[in-house]
Amino acid sequence: MARAVAAYYARRDPFGAAGDFTTAPEISQAFGECLGLWTAVLWQRMGRPDPVLLVELGPGRGTLMADALRAIAQVMPGFRAALRLHLVEQSPVLRAAQAARLADAAPTWHDATEGLPPGPALILGNEFLDALPIRQFVRRGGAWRERFVEGGAFVEGPAEDAPPLPDAAPEGAVREVGEAALALAAGLGARLAAQGGAALFLDYGPAESGFGDSLQALARHAAADPLAAPGEADLTAHVDFAAIAAAARAGGAVTAGPLPQGIFLQSLGLVTRAAMLARARPESAGMQLSAAQRLIAPEGMGRLFKALALCHPGLRHPGLPPLPGFETA
Ligand code: SAH
Repeated sequence: MARAVAAYYARRDPFGAAGDFTTAPEISQAFGECLGLWTAVLWQRMGRPDPVLLVELGPGRGTLMADALRAIAQVMPGFRAALRLHLVEQSPVLRAAQAARLADAAPTWHDATEGLPPGPALILGNEFLDALPIRQFVRRGGAWRERFVEGGAFVEGPAEDAPPLPDAAPEGAVREVGEAALALAAGLGARLAAQGGAALFLDYGPAESGFGDSLQALARHAAADPLAAPGEADLTAHVDFAAIAAAARAGGAVTAGPLPQGIFLQSLGLVTRAAMLARARPESAGMQLSAAQRLIAPEGMGRLFKALALCHPGLRHPGLPPLPGFETA
């Protein structure tokens, strides 16, 4: 699965109407702007470190970061001057798109978070965790078996070197474990606790760990057979937010959320921002408002998508106001 994901992104730009799927930053510029303002508030709370790393994991076309940087430059020029942009991206095609879009900010690219330089950091990741590989385990006769892909089909075999799994589960239950995402969260948790800063992840998945097969392939905006054409469809799985948060806390960070994306974006002012955009550009007013609605409405992306923050313990404790967007968490 890991190879299929890497191969998929390495060869194409999958976003937008002509591609396989679309994401929040491609739907409304207000999304990236709100996330940029989130990092600006955190930078102030950190005591305005200069320099500071601004990092995006899996930046796609660079749209979120372009919108974030524009908003940051407007409201907090000091932060814009202090930040050094670092992008974690493996796809050569998408790195080229990011280079064109973000040339003004002279980004540095990395294959993985381990390559980031040390120092206080503000980190964003939208629909990044769901693209990381998962393992699937199936409950059979009171024990766990692992599901593998062999000869273009799913087969079950012994669960060797299995991560911790629940002791009890109904027959046939599927448990998914995203070991790469958990290792990433633990590593970032340790990094943020030692060097300062915060990370914000937006992705889709339940707030509580559970059972179920969420492996999904998307091609041309429709569900596809995950095994039909390896590397030709986008493979994703639901993110286990509770497990990610626990891994980050074990690393030493403090967490906020997961909170439904709709609530998070509304408290960051996304609706107000979309209304401003609609007034400024009456010809696209309807589009601006329906885009914001799609990101926030429970039947759109507002409920299944969640926001989760990790940060240094000094940035979130009872003596401080809640992290922006997490006031109700
Ligand atoms: N954040 C963007 C793109 C989401 S798609 C948006 O919201 O539109 C997932 C992104 O993660 C792509 O840029 C993909 O190339 C990148 N990616 C997937 N697996 C990765 C990995 N293991 N390491 C680094 N980047 C990865």
